[in-house]
Amino acid sequence: FRLTHEVLHNDTVARLGGDEFVVLLGELGRDPESASVRAGDLADKLRESLAQTYELQGTPVAVSASFGVVLFNSLTDNPHELLKQADMALYRAKAGGRNQVSFFDPALQAEINVRAETLRDLRLAIDRDELRLFYQPIADASGRILGVEALVRWQHPVRGLVPPIQFIPLAEQVSLIQPIGKWVLDAACKQLAEWAKHPKRSGWTVAVNVCERELNDPNFVAHVLQTIEAHGVEPSRVKLEITEGMLLGDLDATMGKMQALQARGITFALDDFGTGYSSLSYLRKLPLDQLKIDKSFVDDVLTDANNASIVRTILSLARALELSVIAEGVETAEQMQFLTTLGNSAFQGYHLCKPVPAELLPDSVAVVAPRAGESVH
Ligand code: C2E
Ligand code: MG
Ligand code: MG
Repeated sequence: FRLTHEVLHNDTVARLGGDEFVVLLGELGRDPESASVRAGDLADKLRESLAQTYELQGTPVAVSASFGVVLFNSLTDNPHELLKQADMALYRAKAGGRNQVSFFDPALQAEINVRAETLRDLRLAIDRDELRLFYQPIADASGRILGVEALVRWQHPVRGLVPPIQFIPLAEQVSLIQPIGKWVLDAACKQLAEWAKHPKRSGWTVAVNVCERELNDPNFVAHVLQTIEAHGVEPSRVKLEITEGMLLGDLDATMGKMQALQARGITFALDDFGTGYSSLSYLRKLPLDQLKIDKSFVDDVLTDANNASIVRTILSLARALELSVIAEGVETAEQMQFLTTLGNSAFQGYHLCKPVPAELLPDSVAVVAPRAGESVH
């Protein structure tokens, strides 16, 4: 009963004989990575559920179960072969000390282990003061810094400086993103308050990335306003970066929150613009201030005529909607110069400055003209 209780309607639970059961999961999706994560999560849930004490005629009885997991992706896979593989994985789980989940595929197993370990450490990261906020300047064509984007990193005691891509998506899956997001906003506002006293930096804005789960939190608006107030910073210096994917959910609710924050002076940028599914009507309706042209368009803007046209189109669209634009991921002087000729006036990328801790930020960035002889078309 406990087995069938946790699985989905379409899944199959069968007893092979003795104390061996088979659970067949459908609809785990096509992507082996996420399928393995989901299968692993479910196996863990079943393992925990089965480990709870039973009452047998008043006597508490404890049993534990070991799990062997094998993924398959086609109906042509030989069932006998699959069961054999699951059995091998099960054998490993038992050999590993029982009450465990083991995957047949060693690569998947390694991945699952890393994920579990990362999550365990990440839960402690804030208390252990392991998060770091880096800043990347956003500058105009002359190199004057207009503001910075705050980008989080995790200073892990063993792994070193972990980039956000290795823990932000994971944190988002398990609701760890809210405390991390709060930490980031707090650190960014604290930094803004310091820069407000600095003659060359008092005009800078700080952009903070926000994920869907954070925005969906019912306390999001109140929390952002409280944090800004607590640090006594000018709300118009705080910019929140959202992505197009976040607009696929409850658009009215999202819009309401954005409007409430915009009414207090906070601004919004649409990050990675051009990679998602923005409709023109969203763009017109949403209280946005800025589009950030995704790095993928900037990458081959010099060599791919399509990308140059896309950039040109985004710029004229932004002009029509009265939005400002930042080109992201600018890596060379040639790209910067060409983007300028297309009419772009704000830039972010390694060519100007990599993300660095606050104390290493320059007051302005040096822009070099493309070397003579290298023509820009
Ligand atoms: P993003 O918001 O689009 O940030 C831009 C990313 O591009 C940053 O990567 C930045 O370091 C990188 N970048 C900037 N210029 C260049 C360039 O010229 N070349 C190359 N190759 N890369 C460049 P990073 O810091 O690794 O962050 C990756 C993503 O993680 C961010 O993408 C953002 O979506 C997310 N992220 C970072 N910090 C936070 C955070 O505090 N909260 C949330 N929710 N997400 C965050
Ligand atoms: Mg961003
Ligand atoms: Mg981006």
